[in-house]
Order: sequence, then C-alpha cells, then structure tokens
Amino acid sequence: MRGLGVVLAAVLLALPAATNAARTPIVVLDPGHDLRANPDTEPIGPGSSVRKIKDGGGTRGVVSGLTEGELNLRVALRLRSLLERAGMRVVMTRTKTAGTSIGNVARARIANRSGADLFLRIHADGSTDRTARGTHTLYPALRRGWTDDVYGASKRAARLVQSEVVHALGFPDRGLQERSDFTGFNWSDVPVILVELGFMTNPTEDRLLATSAYERRAAVGLCRGALRFLGRLKASCR
Ligand SMILES: [Zn+2]
Repeated sequence: MRGLGVVLAAVLLALPAATNAARTPIVVLDPGHDLRANPDTEPIGPGSSVRKIKDGGGTRGVVSGLTEGELNLRVALRLRSLLERAGMRVVMTRTKTAGTSIGNVARARIANRSGADLFLRIHADGSTDRTARGTHTLYPALRRGWTDDVYGASKRAARLVQSEVVHALGFPDRGLQERSDFTGFNWSDVPVILVELGFMTNPTEDRLLATSAYERRAAVGLCRGALRFLGRLKASCR
C-alpha cells in the first residue's frame, strides 16, 4: 500500500497547480533614477540614430531634501511587498540607491527578459514652477516597429493605474500623456507605464510624499491599478 500512498500524495500535490490555470503574473518595478545621474547617451529606440542621455538624475524635494531616486525606491519596496502578498511575482530593476543609474535601455531589457506582464516605472516630478502639482501617468505613443505591440495594453494600464493612484493620494488629476521620446518605452516589448506620483518641487506634495503614510498610500494605489490591469481583485492590496 506504500506505493499507492506515494501516488496519492503526488496527485494531491499536483492538484493546486493543475486547478490554477492562470500563470502567476510578473510585475517589473522600476524605481526611477539612482544615487548618481548617468551622462552617457543611448539610442531612444532600437536602430535609432537619435540618442538621449541615460539618466539626468531626477528631482529633489524642496522641503524634505529627499532625492527622487530614494522616494521612488521607498514606494517601490512597499509596492513589492503588497504585490507579493497578493500573489504576484515581482522583479526589481534596483533595490538600493547606491550607484550610477543604469539607464533606460538596461531597465527595459530587465522587463523584457523577465517576460513582464506589466513594467511599472515609478517617478516623481519636478518643475521650476513651485505651484505645479498633481499626479499623471505616461505611456508609449504608437510607433510601428517599436511600440505597436504594447500600445493598447499600456494605455489601458495607464488609465487604470492613474485613477487608482489619484484616488489613493488625493492629489490633482493631471491625466494621461503619450510619449514618443522615452527610451525606456521604445525599448520595451512588454506593457509599460511611468507614473509621476506628484511634484517634489511643490512644498505641499513634497512634504506629504516624504511621509511613510503617503508612501504607503502611493504603493496601495499602484498595487490596485496593477491588479485591475492584471485581472485580479484590487482588494488583495493590503
Ligand atoms: Zn524621475
């Protein structure tokens, strides 16, 4: 009877996998920037002769003094926990703010190689106008050969994530924006969006975003939007 027991155990072990038809979604989180900017250039899309700087370095909080790279990472690490608890697989483009930015082609390659269902880029904005404020989400403009394969899905993800982040943070809704000039979009072979959580050059938004309560709110909003895009229950973001 020992043989039958082993067979039964094998069948029982195989059951959860067999009944869970959908594969675990993969989300690649890309906290924008790093400790240092990267002045090298790279082509803005595959085969392009137009080159752009790899990373200008990001902005900085006018009140908090926090760097954008560090804020982006704080939110991304909270988001990773929420998504993993909700059953997603998460890949990070970085887990420390410690070096020179790898640039945007490298970030897109991580997402492509991971076979991401969503490549979620986390940023905060800066402006010379300190009254500029609010949340907006960017997605790739349609360009044949570069983004036609990810355009529709990216736009849908942008819409869902923008609405959840606006709801979570309560900052003004600056809407969606298509971009044809983002290296990290043009090199992406998977659905990709870039969320600008708020303005670190606006004293009100900077002060709030530097608190753990608002970093958590941002992560919850991003998680809810991502799960809606992936066809999962957003209530799982806890
Ligand atoms: Zn940025």
